[in-house]
Amino acid sequence: MSKPSFPVTLFPRALLGTAMPRKAPPKVVRGVDTGVGLDSSRVRERLIEKLAKEINSTAVLEAMRRVERHRFVDSALVTQAYEDTALPIGFGQTISKPNVVARMIELLLNGQPRFSGKVLEIGSGCGYQAAVLGQLARHVFSMERIEGLVLKARANLKACELTNVQVKFGDGMLGFPDVAPYVAIIAAAGGEAIPHAWLDQLAMGGRLVAPSWADNKQQALIVIDKTPHGLMRQVLEPVQFVPLKSGILA
Ligand code: SAH
Repeated sequence: MSKPSFPVTLFPRALLGTAMPRKAPPKVVRGVDTGVGLDSSRVRERLIEKLAKEINSTAVLEAMRRVERHRFVDSALVTQAYEDTALPIGFGQTISKPNVVARMIELLLNGQPRFSGKVLEIGSGCGYQAAVLGQLARHVFSMERIEGLVLKARANLKACELTNVQVKFGDGMLGFPDVAPYVAIIAAAGGEAIPHAWLDQLAMGGRLVAPSWADNKQQALIVIDKTPHGLMRQVLEPVQFVPLKSGILA
């Protein structure tokens, strides 16, 4: 079933008028479309403006401008798609807050405009973050342990015509060794520790960004760099992610 186009009610009539000359719209990654097509670019732009107060990477902001988040959420939630909130995606899981997605990818890029090699994501969910990563890397591999979400993420990404993002059904705690190493690894679910498999599959010079229960009391963002001198670990701000769980759910 196709999703409805972006709701007309979000746009005051004045905003829709043709009096103002329009800039050429940026290339946008479209998901499932009915073809009725009122575009969501203005509300998305407002979200990007808010994100830009905290996010310095123009590459991240441009990637998020290009991915239509409302295509990744259920039709009942499209009006909230450009609020900076996590939203339910079924199976007890959530699509992450846009500012958390932006912050983590900015950390992962570490000042680069693009990733120089393969990227691994743990926790595909609905595929939104994978789609943003897909704007910034040649190949993205994303693991999801819940089969229903694997199918959802694949459908959303296919509708976006993003052929460089592959969603794999499996336990992401084991990583995806088949095509390792990765220059960047990002997790959207937090466990008690960073699995060894991720560190093994991280390329020399690569960076990992993941939530983890750093001091057993508070989940925080962890950044690990693999350097010739060893692993360099930073514990950053507190965050709240769904739990990283082992095994698969078919
Ligand atoms: N990046 C997602 C957010 C998904 S929420 C998005 O943009 O929608 C985190 C996801 O991690 C959930 O879908 C959950 O099922 C998944 N997850 C948790 N533990 C996992 C594991 N061991 N392997 C793969 N996925 C896992």
